[in-house]
Amino acid sequence: MMDEAALEAELFAVGSRLARDMPAQRNPLKAIDDRAMDLASQDAELKAALFRFVDVVPACRSLDDLSRHLVGFLREVETRPPPISVAMRMGNTKAGRTALGAAAATGVRHMAHRFIVGEDPKAALGVLRDLWKDGVASSVDLLGEATVTQSEAQRYAERCAEALDTLADAAQRWPARPQLERDSAGALPRANLSVKVSALTPLLRADAPERGQRDAADRLRPLLRQARDRGAHLHIDMESMDSRDAVLELVLDLLAEDEFRAGPSAGMVLQAYLRDSPQSLDTIVDWLGRVERAHPLTVRLVKGAYWDHELVEARQHGWPSPVFEHKADTDRNFEQLTRRLIDARSGGASLRVAVASHNLRSVAHAVAYNRLSGGRDEDLELQVLRGLGDPLQAAIARQDLRVRAYCPVGDLVAGMAYLVRRLLENTSNDSFLAAQANGVAVEELLAPPSVPA
Ligand SMILES: Cc1cc2nc3c(=O)[nH]c(=O)nc-3n(C[C@H](O)[C@H](O)[C@H](O)COP(=O)(O)OP(=O)(O)OC[C@H]3O[C@@H](n4cnc5c(N)ncnc54)[C@H](O)[C@@H]3O)c2cc1C
Repeated sequence: MMDEAALEAELFAVGSRLARDMPAQRNPLKAIDDRAMDLASQDAELKAALFRFVDVVPACRSLDDLSRHLVGFLREVETRPPPISVAMRMGNTKAGRTALGAAAATGVRHMAHRFIVGEDPKAALGVLRDLWKDGVASSVDLLGEATVTQSEAQRYAERCAEALDTLADAAQRWPARPQLERDSAGALPRANLSVKVSALTPLLRADAPERGQRDAADRLRPLLRQARDRGAHLHIDMESMDSRDAVLELVLDLLAEDEFRAGPSAGMVLQAYLRDSPQSLDTIVDWLGRVERAHPLTVRLVKGAYWDHELVEARQHGWPSPVFEHKADTDRNFEQLTRRLIDARSGGASLRVAVASHNLRSVAHAVAYNRLSGGRDEDLELQVLRGLGDPLQAAIARQDLRVRAYCPVGDLVAGMAYLVRRLLENTSNDSFLAAQANGVAVEELLAPPSVPA
C-alpha cells in the first residue's frame, strides 16, 4: 500500500523543483501569441470568431480576402476589446484591409510555427537535432487528419514511409544521449513516428469496423516492417471514441502477429477522460500477459484531445457521455491509471510507461509514484506537445528525467485542425496551462484534484 502522505510530500517536492526550473518565456513572438490566447479565452464569441477565422486562412487567396474574412467574423463579436475595434476600422479601406490581412496572415503563421516544427520531415531535422542535443527526444506526427479517399490514405502511408527513412538516417548522426536512449528494458529507438489510423484508411466506421481495420492493416503492416528494419519506434495515436475500440483491437492484433514478435518497438495511447478507460487498460494488461514480444509495449497515457467533440456527439444522440464531465474526475482517473501502469510494469509486464501531460501535478504525481513504488527514473518517460509544453520540457530535461516532445510536421493547411484543437485546449477555463499562465500559486497547481461543490 502506498503511503499517501509520503507520496504527496514527494509529489510536492518534484513539482516545486520543476516549477522552479521552468525558463521564463523569452521569445517576444510567443508573448504575442499568449496575448492572443488571453484575449480569446476571456470571450466565448471572440473565441468562436477566431476559430472560424483560423479555419478559413488556408483557403484565402489574397491578403484582402483574408482580412475580409477576419472583419466578417469579428463583426459577430458584440463587445470588442480595443485591439479588435482597431482591426475593424482598418477593414473599411482597401489599403487598411491589405495591411490587416498581412498582419493576420503573419499572426496565424507565427502561431502555427509555435506548434509545427517544419513543412516536412527534412525541414524539421534541424529542430529535432537541437531538441536531442538539449536532452529532449521527439516523436514526429505527420499532420493530415481523417482521410476521405483511398488515394489520400495511400499518400499518407507513403509520407510515413519517407519520414521513417529520413528520421532513421538523420538520427544515426545525433550525438550520444544515454539518458534518452536506454532504460532498464534496453535500447530505446532514436527515430520515433506517431501515426493516426484514421489517416491510413477512409473506411473506419464505428458500426462496421472490420473493413476499416483490414484496410488500415494493409497500410500499417509495411510501416511496421520498415520501422523494425530501420530500428525505429512506431506509435499509434488514439482519436475520437467512434474509432477507439477498432484501433485498440487493430494494434493489439497486429503486434501479436508472428512476423512482428521481434519488432518493431511500438506503442499505443490510453485516454483517461474516457469513463471506461480502466477497462481498456484491463484489455492491454491481459494482452501483455498472453503475447510475448522482443520489445516492451509503450503505453502513452493522455487525458484526451476530443473532449468537446465527445460531449457534443453524445448530447446530439441522447447517449450518456463517454467522457467525464468534471475535470477533476479526469485528473483523478489519470492518476489511477498512472499507478496501474507503473504497478503493471513493476509486476513484470513488458511495458514502457509514457505519461503525456503539461499538468505539473499529473507529471509530478507520476514521477513521485514511480519513485516511491521502487521504480527508477529512467523507467518513466514524460511527454509534452511541441509549443505547449516547452518550459515544462526544459525543466524535465534539467532534472535528468526522460522527456519526449511530440512534434507535428506539415503545412499550414494540414495544420489548421491541429492548431484549432490546441487553441481550444489552451483557452479552456479548465486548462492547467491557462491556470498556470494566470499566475495561480504552485501550491494550488499541485493540490489534489477536487470536484467543485
Ligand atoms: C505527447 C502527447 C501526445 C498526445 N497524444 C494524444 C493522442 O494520441 N490522443 C489524444 O486524444 N490526445 C493526445 N494528447 C493530448 C492530451 O490528450 C491532452 O489533450 C492534453 O495533453 C491536455 O492535457 P494536460 O494533462 O496537458 O492538461 P490539463 O489542463 O490538466 O487537462 C486538460 C484535459 O482535461 C480534460 N478535460 C478538460 N475539461 C474537462 C471537463 N470539464 N471534464 C472532464 N475532463 C476534462 C481534457 O482531456 C483536456 O484535454 C497528447 C498529449 C501529449 C502531451
